[in-house]
Amino acid sequence: MSTRIEETVYRCSNFIQFLLLPPTCVLCQQRGQRGLDLCVNCQQLLALTDSCCPGCALPLPAAAFGLQCGRCQTRSTRIHTTVAACRYEAGVSGLITGFKYHRQLAGGRALTALLLDAIRDRYGQPSLPDLLLPVPLHPARLRQRGYNQALLMARDLSKGLGIPCEADALQRVRATPPQQGLSAKERRRNLRGAFALNPKWDGSHYRRIALIDDVVTTMSTVSEIARVLQRDGDTAREIHVWCLARA
Ligand SMILES: [Zn+2]
Ligand SMILES: [Zn+2]
Repeated sequence: MSTRIEETVYRCSNFIQFLLLPPTCVLCQQRGQRGLDLCVNCQQLLALTDSCCPGCALPLPAAAFGLQCGRCQTRSTRIHTTVAACRYEAGVSGLITGFKYHRQLAGGRALTALLLDAIRDRYGQPSLPDLLLPVPLHPARLRQRGYNQALLMARDLSKGLGIPCEADALQRVRATPPQQGLSAKERRRNLRGAFALNPKWDGSHYRRIALIDDVVTTMSTVSEIARVLQRDGDTAREIHVWCLARA
């Protein structure tokens, strides 16, 4: 489906939902708040308010507030900062599965609004990234699913933060088997050569790029994309990761 048709479908479905149904919590059916399909209680329960690693968003004990996790301290990483809205727990994983596979867009939109809050908490205005890039789906997967959930998230974040979003800069050029059940090393191998920059895209002036994805598990997908974006020795370019949940 072309990007424009996908966007029109998304906007129409948002508008129709808003007309027919006032905001109602997707988890407990109470009245939604701030125009979101989440009530105040569920927003507080889902949000990742605990301390977590600023590099990879791994939840850490409260005593480690502001510190990086052991892995980020000891290994070189291409990722500058990761912001996750939620832990990947029961309520959240259900909403994300619905958002990704069953067109349940209200849950995705509500979690994206929590992510927007988390981003605003983390950054001062001048240090925000200057470009948003959604993690792309392979064209075959996109045809099958009809939409890329990361692009829907990126559009909402772009609107909320006033940062441009480019849907076609990154391409998934190789279909890869699902990552579930693979070790970190196997995941890295599985993803080698899976992404490329669109040869028509000139993004050399962007210095801070935020990659948008639904769930981050081992960082292998975003690290592989960072490798593509920092090719040609452009390692001064900062790569940030913004996701709904950190598994
Ligand atoms: Zn609720
Ligand atoms: Zn970390």
